[in-house]
Formats: sequence, C-alpha cells, structure tokens
Amino acid sequence: MNGPRVLAVDIGGTKFAAAVIDEDGTVCARAEEAIAGADPAEVLGRVIAATDPAGVVAAGIGTAGPLDRARGTVSPVNIPAWRDFPLAATVGDRLPGVPVVMAGDAQCMALGEWWRGTARDRAGALLGIVVSTGIGGGVVLDGRPHLGPTGNAGHIGHITVDPRGEPCPCGAVGCVETFASGPAMVRWAAGQGWTLPPGSPADARSLAAAARAGDEVAQAAFDRAAEALATGLLTTAALFDLDRVVVGGGVAAAGDTLLAPIRRALLARDGMAFLRRLRVEPSTLGRDAGLFGAAALARLHAPGA
Ligand SMILES: [Zn+2]
Repeated sequence: MNGPRVLAVDIGGTKFAAAVIDEDGTVCARAEEAIAGADPAEVLGRVIAATDPAGVVAAGIGTAGPLDRARGTVSPVNIPAWRDFPLAATVGDRLPGVPVVMAGDAQCMALGEWWRGTARDRAGALLGIVVSTGIGGGVVLDGRPHLGPTGNAGHIGHITVDPRGEPCPCGAVGCVETFASGPAMVRWAAGQGWTLPPGSPADARSLAAAARAGDEVAQAAFDRAAEALATGLLTTAALFDLDRVVVGGGVAAAGDTLLAPIRRALLARDGMAFLRRLRVEPSTLGRDAGLFGAAALARLHAPGA
C-alpha cells in the first residue's frame, strides 16, 4: 500500500459499504452489509470497524439523499429510521481528529469515475449520471466536484426537457426522470401495449431484454428515454463545456440499448462546435464508483491536500 490512506463510506438505500483506500486507489480493506431490518447505525458501525480504519487521514461519505451538507445530516428515502440523522458526526466519532466530508451518491459516482474510471485521463469537465429508479448526477470541474452551496448540484433528473410534459413528483413538469427512469420507461411502454413476458419482473431489465429481442415498443421506450437524457446532457454540456459523460445505474446496464440512441440524439442536436467532442461512456467501476468517489472526496479534504 502507498501513501496516506482514507476511509470511504457508501450509504445506499439497502446496503452500506466501507473501504480503506490508499493514494494509488488500492483498496486495502473493504466491508459491505445489507441493512435488511437491522439498526442502520449498528450496520454502519460494523462495516467501518471491519475495515480497521485506524490511521486514516480523512473520511469521505457518499450517501443516498436527501442530505444537508452544512449540518452533516441525511434523510435517505429508503431508510425511514434516519431522518436528519447526523451521519458525518457519527462517522467522525469513530475517527477522532480526522476530517469527515459528505456528498450525494451520484456526486461521488462522478468523482469516482473521474479518479479511477473511464475518465482517468483526467477529463477536465465530467458529468456522471446514475439512471435507475430515479436519475441522479454529479459534475466534476477542473478535478473538483461541484457540489453547490446546499450540496444539491447535479440534479440532472429534474431538468425539464418538455415544458408541456407529465407532472413530476418534484413539482415541475416534463423532467428527464419522467421519461428515463426505469419505472417511467416501464409505465410508458405498458401504456403503449407492451406486455411483460410471464415470470419477468416489471423493471427496466425486462424492458431492455425485450428491446434487444426486437420488441418495437420496448425499443421506442429506450429511444424516448435516450432523447430526454440527450437533451439533459446537451443542456449540461452547454453550461459547463463538458468533455465526458459517464452513465451508470441499473437502467444503464442495458448498455448500447440505451447508449446508442443517446449518441444518435446527441449527433442530431449538437448545435455548437464545442459540444461535438462530448463523449458518452458506460461506467466501468459499477457499484464501486461511489466508494472511489468518497475516497477522492476525502483526499481533497485531507490535511495538506
Ligand atoms: Zn422533477
């Protein structure tokens, strides 16, 4: 192992993971545990203890939201036991004197991809998006995450791409998420007459399998989602002069079923010359992107960084 080590913690909706990672990105120790009815604070304590974090110089936490970075609290939708839970302080209590910093899970995914993933050639400006039951995102500019004053920057799922579109639970209409989240795609396809093969779950994976098998409605659902995503990506790219977009999450596991129509839509719409260099790639780190991002975040806040 090399150089100072940091503790990375990934708080998901159903499981927690922790790892001690050195400055080369080598994972020195890691642990993971499902919450599954247990007290989440106890699960958190166990996964951290299992990594033996003595001697780390900083800790980074990527967490499901909502979160309040200023107060260090979280209220993850899928963890009802935690409402305004003091996550940063709870981790800090185990690591006296060590700085603890927290960001959203999608922001950490973006930072992890920037540090250790496909964009390791140090893309100057990168957007990471997680396309799953919801759509999250995070932006890395000049090698640092742009988290925003409240910690909520990167909410690409709630960019409006159709001002006359469907209402979104966020209160706006026609958000990217109303087209391209897994449940939105399945709902739209069902409304167009797509029927689920017997025994398959009603999710984006089944829809992707149908699209690959040539089902036209399923393919149209992916094309429609891709067009909405491409519009959101181009909007973001125009604002930030992005080099790269890295796409992860359960819906993105469909691979080229989703990415190919996104690339086509980008080619059809990129007005400005600087947008034409935008590259869209799948995540290569998968679920580990969040842990690596939390480690990268910790490194930025380590003493002397
Ligand atoms: Zn919305």
